[in-house]
Amino acid sequence: MSQTPSSSDRLDCDLLLEGGVVITLDGKRRVLDGGAVAVADGRIAAVGDSGELRELRKTAGKVIDCRGKVVLPGMTDGHTHLFQSLGRGLGDGMTLVPWLQRFMLPYSKAITREMSVAAVRLGALQAALSGTTLVVDNHYAPTDTETILAVADAVEEVGIRGAIARGIFGEMNPGGELMGVDPDLFALTNQDELDITAECMAERPRGGLVEVWPCPENIVYVWPELIEAAAEMAEAAGVRWHMHCSEVQDEISFFTEVHGTRPVAWLAERGLLSRHTTLAHAVWLDPDEVAAMGAANATAVHNPISNQYLASGVLHLDPLLSAGATVALGSDGVAVAGQDIFEAMKAGMLMHRVASLDSTATTVEQFLELGTLGGAAMTGLDAGSLEPGRAADLVVVDVSGVRHTPWSRPVASVVHSGSAADVEMVIVAGEVIVEDGRSTRVDEDEVRAVAAEAAAQLFGRARLSDLARDWQ
Ligand SMILES: [Zn+2]
Repeated sequence: MSQTPSSSDRLDCDLLLEGGVVITLDGKRRVLDGGAVAVADGRIAAVGDSGELRELRKTAGKVIDCRGKVVLPGMTDGHTHLFQSLGRGLGDGMTLVPWLQRFMLPYSKAITREMSVAAVRLGALQAALSGTTLVVDNHYAPTDTETILAVADAVEEVGIRGAIARGIFGEMNPGGELMGVDPDLFALTNQDELDITAECMAERPRGGLVEVWPCPENIVYVWPELIEAAAEMAEAAGVRWHMHCSEVQDEISFFTEVHGTRPVAWLAERGLLSRHTTLAHAVWLDPDEVAAMGAANATAVHNPISNQYLASGVLHLDPLLSAGATVALGSDGVAVAGQDIFEAMKAGMLMHRVASLDSTATTVEQFLELGTLGGAAMTGLDAGSLEPGRAADLVVVDVSGVRHTPWSRPVASVVHSGSAADVEMVIVAGEVIVEDGRSTRVDEDEVRAVAAEAAAQLFGRARLSDLARDWQ
C-alpha cells in the first residue's frame, strides 16, 4: 500500500493532523518534519508531508494543527492492575512477598466491586491522559462476572482499548502454600474459575475495543490444569492469555520444589508457549528458557519501574529479542510506582545500562519501539506504527516547552525529556478521547472524587492506614 494517496484517488478523511513531527515507526522508521496523518473510519488513511496531503483539507471533518508537536503511535501498557490505583504511594520499600502479604493481598480481599470500578476508572483515565491507548489490565479483585464486565465497561467509557486479563486463582495448591499466599484468595473452585472466565470472554470477544483474556495469576500458585485450560481457551477464542511468571528469584525455587523444573522450561515442555502466551516479567530465565520464549515467539512484558521498585531483577532484554521473543513494556500499576509508558521507556533504557555497566546497551529508539510496536505485537492489534491501514491510535505530544528546547533529536527528546504531562491529544480508533490534555469522555473531577472516597473506605476495611504515612 502506498504511503500517500495518488492524485487520482479521492480520499475522504475524518481527521487530518498536519504540520507536526511525525514519528512513524514504519518499516523505514521515517521521521517526517512537517508531516501529516489522515484518519478515516478508525484507521490511518495516509501518512506523508503536509504539502502532499494538503488536498485532504477539503474533505477533512477536522484539521488539527500539530506545529510544535510530535505525533506518535499510541503506546501499550502491556501489564497493569488498574484496580490497584487506590493504593498509590503505599507499600514502598518491600520486596514482592512482603509487599503481597502486608499490602496487596489485604487490599485485594477488602476491595468491593464499587471500589474496584472506581479504581479502574481512575487508572484508565490516567492511562489515557498519558498517551496509553491500550492497556492489558490484570484484574484479580473481585473477579465475578459482573465486576469483570463492569471493569471492561469502565475502560471503554474512558475510550482506550483494553484487554481485561481476568485473574484466576482456583483452589489452594502446594505452590500457594509454599509461597504463603492467603488461603482466602483461593475462593473459587477450578471449574467455577473456568466457567466465569468463559462467560466474560463470550461477552467481550476478540475484535471489540475491550477484550477479556484468561489470566492464571501466577505460575507458582495456580494448578497446572488451570494454566493449560487458560491457554486452550485463549487459542480457541483467538486472544492472548496472560500470567505472572518468574518475576523474582524465590518464585523459581518455589516452583522447582513443586514441579521439579523451572517455570518457563515447564511451559515449554507442556507446549504452552506460543504467540498467545504473554508473560508478565519473565525476569529470571535461564538461557534455555530464553531460547524457548524466542522459538515460540512468546511475549515477555518488561516492567522496569516495578522491577526496580521491588528490586526484583533485570530482564534479559537483548537475549530475548535476539532469540525472537516479543518484548512489550508494562507499568505494573501505580501500587509499584508504575505510572505510565513514558516513565517505563526511560527507566528501562537506563536500568540495562547500569546493570551491564555499558552505556551502549540500550537506545532511545529501541525503547520507543518496545512501547509501541512491542505492545501491538503482544496483543495482535494492527497498530503500533503510523502507516496506512493500521488502527488510528495516535498521540500528539506538545514539545514547544522549555523541557524540549532546543529541539534536536525527536525520539531522544520524547524518551529522555518527555512526560505524560506533555500529552495534548489522544486518538483511539479515530476518536479524539483526549483534547488539550483533558478527557473528552469523562468528568475528571468526578472520577477523582469517587476514587478518593473509595480509597478512604478501602483503607479502613483493609487496615492500610499504617502504610499511608511518610517517614515510617
Ligand atoms: Zn503485576
